[in-house]
Amino acid sequence: MVERLTYRRRLSYNTKSNRRRVVRTPGGKLVYQYLKKPKKIPRCGSCKEKLRGIQPSRPMERSQMCRRKKTVKRVYGGVLCHRCVKERIVRAFLIEEQKIVVKVIKARQASVKTKKTEK
Ligand SMILES: [Zn+2]
Repeated sequence: MVERLTYRRRLSYNTKSNRRRVVRTPGGKLVYQYLKKPKKIPRCGSCKEKLRGIQPSRPMERSQMCRRKKTVKRVYGGVLCHRCVKERIVRAFLIEEQKIVVKVIKARQASVKTKKTEK
């Protein structure tokens, strides 16, 4: 005797949200158990690496979760990975340094020119 499995919900199409698993109940019946969509860990916005220290969740769950589970305590925590943040900080620092160097060189040249004209 082959038992026929029937949907326990009204949705009868094989869609992503209608994934199910066959489970044997204590009474020996085979029934469908509906599965939830897989939870995902957010990825780094620039290198696409999985972020650590963040709980995998569905978007709906995320709205109900506390902040601690969604971010890490760092600038861009929960958005970028530590390496990308470090790189950005270093790059910004070097750009600022370059600007200062250019300013100093310009000032030096200007002072040299004024000295020459004075003589
Ligand atoms: Zn990254």
